[in-house]
Amino acid sequence: MKQLLGNQHLIAQIRTAVREDKAAHAYLICGAVGSGKKTLADIISTMLMCPEGGCEQCVCCQKVEKGIHPDLIRLRGDNKNGTYSVDQIREIRKDALVYPNEGRKKIYVLEEAEKMSPAAQDAFLKILEEPPAFVVFLLLCSDESRMLATVLSRVIRLALELPSTEQSLSWLREQAQAPDDLIRTALGAAGGNPGQALSLIKEGKLKERIANCEAFSRALLTGTAYDMAAISHKLAADKEEFAEFIKTLALYFRDIAVYKTAPTAELVFADSIASLAGYFVRIRADGLLRTIEGLQQLAVQVTQSISILLLEMRLVTLVRTNCI
Ligand SMILES: [Zn+2]
Repeated sequence: MKQLLGNQHLIAQIRTAVREDKAAHAYLICGAVGSGKKTLADIISTMLMCPEGGCEQCVCCQKVEKGIHPDLIRLRGDNKNGTYSVDQIREIRKDALVYPNEGRKKIYVLEEAEKMSPAAQDAFLKILEEPPAFVVFLLLCSDESRMLATVLSRVIRLALELPSTEQSLSWLREQAQAPDDLIRTALGAAGGNPGQALSLIKEGKLKERIANCEAFSRALLTGTAYDMAAISHKLAADKEEFAEFIKTLALYFRDIAVYKTAPTAELVFADSIASLAGYFVRIRADGLLRTIEGLQQLAVQVTQSISILLLEMRLVTLVRTNCI
């Protein structure tokens, strides 16, 4: 069976429900991107499909594990932007009335369920209220605020929590062939989310982003506004990467703020921060929080259709006026 980090109480909860034949017909599995929603959905599917409640040995368990069980239906929104159309939901409603091929259950896993419009969720309610006894819906969701109350009231909510740092680190060491300091940095940069940390490591851009943050901060501390603008302009050539850089820069400045109040505290970018620490006396502590907030907003603005030239200048002004 797939390995879920932490959150063993959720598995125990479902195991008990399956054993007592009290499993619900709809679960909302919620948690941040990379928190293990798909893994938990697979584990639940195995427990529901297997005649033994998840023996991991039988043909049924193996088919679920390999993702080839005909009665385990994984879905994503069929619209171009990943949203579910009302028509797609109607198709699911029709399909759900058909008996399973070979399984005890017919399980629908709906990834990114938050990408159902209110109209699509409304259309979904009918089948969610009274599904056939053999149907189970697993809704995976990373933003519950987008789900209608009428949907939320008809599902059992399973909320994934972040595993402990130690659990995450040992999992990342197994998954990623990477030096330990990079693993720790990635976990910190991902806010403790191991799945996101693994993506960061695999993406291979974290080191470069940190180097850019360091260069930008060095320009702030020892250079001119033009030096900062040059870096900003270079990075803005790739809009997506520019947004990621700004997000990382917000974390970098959070590290600077932490360092200024507690130099011995654990930092995400410890080595890089240490190389600049001698200049931090020049940074105004009160402006750091405004900078961090401003950077978070700026990262969002970059993904919107605002002039990139305007935003690359705004980045320089924001940091310079608040920090120095
Ligand atoms: Zn089995």
